Amino acid sequence: MSVQLGMPQPPEEAAPLPSVPAARPTDAPAGLADRYGRRATDMRLSLTDKCNLRCTYCMPAEGLEWLAKQAVMSASEIVRLVRIGVEQLGVRELRLTGGEPLVRHDLVDIISALRSNHPNLPISMTTNGVGLAKKAAALKAAGLTRINVSLDSLHEETFTQLTRRPFLNQVLAGVDAAWAAGLGPVKLNAVLMRGINDAEAPALLAWALGRGYELRFIEQMPLDADHGWTRRNMITAAEIRQILSADFVLSPDPRARDGAPAERFEVRRRVAASADGAAGALGPVLGTVGIIASVTEPFCSDCRRTRITAEGKIMSCLFSREEFDLLGLLRSGASDDALAQRWQDAMWLKPKAHGMDHVGLDAPDFVQPDRSMSAIGG
Ligand code: SAM
Ligand code: SF4
Repeated sequence: MSVQLGMPQPPEEAAPLPSVPAARPTDAPAGLADRYGRRATDMRLSLTDKCNLRCTYCMPAEGLEWLAKQAVMSASEIVRLVRIGVEQLGVRELRLTGGEPLVRHDLVDIISALRSNHPNLPISMTTNGVGLAKKAAALKAAGLTRINVSLDSLHEETFTQLTRRPFLNQVLAGVDAAWAAGLGPVKLNAVLMRGINDAEAPALLAWALGRGYELRFIEQMPLDADHGWTRRNMITAAEIRQILSADFVLSPDPRARDGAPAERFEVRRRVAASADGAAGALGPVLGTVGIIASVTEPFCSDCRRTRITAEGKIMSCLFSREEFDLLGLLRSGASDDALAQRWQDAMWLKPKAHGMDHVGLDAPDFVQPDRSMSAIGG
C-alpha cells in the first residue's frame, strides 16, 4: 500500500462492528465482566440527585427537577444492592456520591449498615463539603473509610462564581474536620475553568500540599446540564501540567496506577539557581498531585467502574446512553440471583471507550448523554 505522508490512512483490516451488542454468553467470566476483558470491581453509588450547590460545569442555575422521593433507592434497597455487588459480583470498593450525599438525612445510618455487613470494604464518599464539618465525626464513627471533597477555588468570589453559592468557608471547615476525624487521606477534586480559576491552580496545589491533602485536577467533561462545554474552551491535562510547571516540577509517581482514574505525579520545587548560572537542583518531594484526564488521555481500557444512579439504574460508563433498571426489578420481588444477572448483563455491554477523545468532537461518534454529572453520580 502506498502511504501519503500527512494523510489519514484507512486501517489495514477494519474489524466488523457488531450492529447489535452481543448478549452475555453463558461461559462469560464471573463478576461484572465486559466484552473487552475488563472486570468492574469499583462501585460508584449515587445516594441522591439533589444538591445544594449549582456548579456551572454540572448543574443549571435554576437546578434540575428532583426525583420524587419514592423514585430514589431507600436505605435498605441500597444495602441490598451493595451486598449483592460484594458477595456475588466481586465488588471490592465502594464510593458514595450524588448529587450531594450529605443532603441525605439517613446517610449515617446507610454507612453504618454497609459497614456492619462488610467490615473490610473500603467505603469512600465524594462530597462538596457543605455541612461536612458537623457530620465528619459521625461519618467516621459509622464506618466511612475516606473522603474526597470538591474544591475549585480558595477565593470566596471565584468559589461563589463557580458554585453559584457563597459557601467557601463551610467547605474549608469541612475539609479540615474530615482530616481531624480521621477520614484521610483527604483528596480534593478541582475542575479548572478557563479565565475563572485556571490561574489559581498552583496556589491551590501549594495550599493542599501544605496541609497534606492530595489534590486532583479533573478535566472538565461534557456532562453539564447546560450543554455549555466546548473542546476549545476546556483546560486539558497537558495545559494543567504546563500551568503547574510555573511553580513546581512534576515527575511520574513510581507507584503503580492500578486502574485509578488519576495519573499521579510527585511534586517538587526547584531550589534557587546558583550564582554561577547552574540550574537549580530539585528540592524534596512535597507530596503528589493527580490529574484525571478523562477527555484527552482517557483510561477506558483499564476502567473498573460500575455505577448505580440514585434511582437504581445501572450505568456501565459515565457516558452511557443506555441504562438498565435494577431498582424496578428489585421492587418487583426479584431474587438476588436475578438482580445479579441483570447487573452482569448490563456490564457486559459496557462500551469499549467513550469516544470523546476522537478528533472532531462534534463527529457523530460522540453524543453528550442526557444526564448531567449530578444525575449520574460522578
Ligand atoms: N456533589 C459532590 C461533589 O461535588 O463532590 C459529589 C457529586 S459530583 C457530580 C462528583 C465530582 O464530579 C465532583 O468532584 C465534581 O467536581 C465533578 N464534576 C461534576 N461535573 C463535572 C464535569 N462536567 N466535568 C468534570 N468533573 C465534573
Ligand atoms: Fe452539586 Fe457536585 Fe454537581 Fe457541584 S459538582 S452541582 S456540588 S453535584
